[in-house]
Amino acid sequence: MENKNICQSCSMPIALDHVKGSEKDGTKSTNYCIYCYENGAFKDPQITLGQMISSVEKQMEKMNLPGKLIEASISKIPKLNRWRI
Ligand SMILES: [Zn+2]
Repeated sequence: MENKNICQSCSMPIALDHVKGSEKDGTKSTNYCIYCYENGAFKDPQITLGQMISSVEKQMEKMNLPGKLIEASISKIPKLNRWRI
């Protein structure tokens, strides 16, 4: 399972610097995207795994992405570091 270079919260690709989240000291996060993580903290700390999955699904549907791609992406989310307990 190749989970490198994707956000460890929402599974979005974070290969490019401008979509990487930021740490408290202003450096780029290597683990989370800009939508999930800013200044060293999650933007939405209360969100549950189920809510994350449905919000990613909705977001990708809005972008008219193919259903197979959406399914592949959301199936990765429960395995990401943020959701592994
Ligand atoms: Zn993210």
